[in-house]
Amino acid sequence: MNNNVYDCAIIGGGVGGLTLAIQLAGAGRTVILFEKEQYPFHKVCGEYVSMESYDFLERVGMPLSAMDIPIINEVKISSVNGNSFTRKLDLGGFGISRYTLDSTLADIAKNKGVTLLQETKVTGILFEKNLFLISAAQDIYQAKIAIGAYGKRSVVDKIINQRRVKHVSSEKNYVAIKYHVKVELPPNRIELHNFDNGYCGISKVDGGNYCLCYLTKSKNLRDNNNDIKKMEQNVLMKNPFLKKYFTEAVFLYEQPLTISQITFNKRSAVEDHILMLGDSAGSIVPLCGNGMSMAMHASLKAFQLIEQYLDENISRQNLEVLYHNKWNSLFSKRIKTNEYIQYLFGRKLLTNTVIAILKRVPFVTDILINNTHGSKF
Ligand SMILES: Cc1cc2nc3c(=O)[nH]c(=O)nc-3n(C[C@H](O)[C@H](O)[C@H](O)COP(=O)(O)OP(=O)(O)OC[C@H]3O[C@@H](n4cnc5c(N)ncnc54)[C@H](O)[C@@H]3O)c2cc1C
Repeated sequence: MNNNVYDCAIIGGGVGGLTLAIQLAGAGRTVILFEKEQYPFHKVCGEYVSMESYDFLERVGMPLSAMDIPIINEVKISSVNGNSFTRKLDLGGFGISRYTLDSTLADIAKNKGVTLLQETKVTGILFEKNLFLISAAQDIYQAKIAIGAYGKRSVVDKIINQRRVKHVSSEKNYVAIKYHVKVELPPNRIELHNFDNGYCGISKVDGGNYCLCYLTKSKNLRDNNNDIKKMEQNVLMKNPFLKKYFTEAVFLYEQPLTISQITFNKRSAVEDHILMLGDSAGSIVPLCGNGMSMAMHASLKAFQLIEQYLDENISRQNLEVLYHNKWNSLFSKRIKTNEYIQYLFGRKLLTNTVIAILKRVPFVTDILINNTHGSKF
């Protein structure tokens, strides 16, 4: 048993966990953060960050304006048959690789005094006598507050009551694949190209590379003998834009980065007294490019409420209820809109029809896009 009692223990060092750690440490709180990987590392992600979190990231110390990162203010969308349109984005976003973003945030956290344990996987968590006991790397750590910021899927889910991983039909089971490539594409544009049972995003990130990342129903991969190259050839390259990119781009990894068994279930923002942050609380489908901003926005709200709890201005019960309500009021509508859009995308006939309609009524596209984005925080 480690004798320190930390103000806050954070499980998972993605954008949600790291930004919360930085804010709490900046306010003088003692924070321990567990991350199972070693920074810097690559992550499967489209790497487009909505502009709503630009100011917030700068406030927590991320020197975005001094970095050479592309600002993205237009979107091009194509249907499976290659019918396409381009629109300006009101809010837009910027491109930054997770390799750079997460590791820079980890450095900021360390400099603020966060105890950052890397290559340390949390394997157990217990709430007892108003304290959390967290097991990791054969030690037990104590904290007043525990945060689940471990992403979509983790062993931690299995040890938290009522969080048993539910069986998900293969229709709702996805695989995601990411490459960094060199390609000819305007730096201010994100492109989303549909293919049968999936879609692929491509946009510029730091370092002059482009992130090419796609999400597909796992059925596509199974139907192609679990051979990624074969699936790309047989399914993705039926879209003429994707055919061009897969034929002409220079691929920078030997092998793509992949994750499987992705689902987009609705979850709960508080479980067993643990406050859930980012994808652990509920994830948005990547199509709307907003999961990172949601995780960071939730970290700001969690920070404000945790401060009140640690200052003994609110009880634990109040903290949990207030956080749960705040999370729902901020994100429930976005998640719903996202579900509708996800339903439209990746279906051959439907996307061909929908894109043809959206082309004629561009203001509907603007409404859809605006409903998936929040405002600056
Ligand atoms: C294909 C795809 C494309 C996407 N594209 C975009 C995009 O372009 N823009 C966008 O905004 N969002 C995108 N998203 C969503 C975005 O990646 C997530 O919403 C975001 O990463 C959530 O951040 P997080 O901090 O909650 O979790 P994560 O970034 O997933 O971080 C969780 C961390 O917890 C660690 N961890 C897990 N279990 C343990 C454990 N037991 N002990 C210790 N550490 C643990 C993991 O190693 C990981 O580093 C995409 C998602 C997918 C699947």
